[in-house]
Amino acid sequence: MKKLFESWKRFLKEAVEMVCPPATQDLELNTKNRDGAIKAEHIQYGPLNVSEPGDYWLDIAEYWNTTEDAAKQSVCGNCVAFDVSPRMDECMPGPTSDADGRLGYCWMHHFKCHSARACRTWAKGGPIEEDNISADWQSRANFGEEK
Ligand code: SF4
Repeated sequence: MKKLFESWKRFLKEAVEMVCPPATQDLELNTKNRDGAIKAEHIQYGPLNVSEPGDYWLDIAEYWNTTEDAAKQSVCGNCVAFDVSPRMDECMPGPTSDADGRLGYCWMHHFKCHSARACRTWAKGGPIEEDNISADWQSRANFGEEK
């Protein structure tokens, strides 16, 4: 009986882990979380237009106490929370690449972010390219609403 219970528990855990994150399937939720990440003082996801960034890189460089060139090296594409694993690619509703880079899922703020953008909570160590690491982030994720 205990064995059966353990198998059932493992099955449920794996099923939950492999479900696509809600924001990849729900445009309204994705937009809400993205807009929250743009507006939140401590996140400031951007720039809106990577070809016309305005003062975005200068501002974030000042925040990080570094140069504009150095700030431009810390983008979603190499952030620890940027998920471009095969399983996440399958969750994306359409093409993921354009001339500036590609889309991935942000496990910190729960929306589809772009590799050429950045935010103030960037952290070294990404991207996530393995399904098992993606599933591990998902098993620890809190899908609560963004601020
Ligand atoms: S936490 Fe990382 S992946 Fe998410 S928006 Fe910020 S830089 Fe991009």
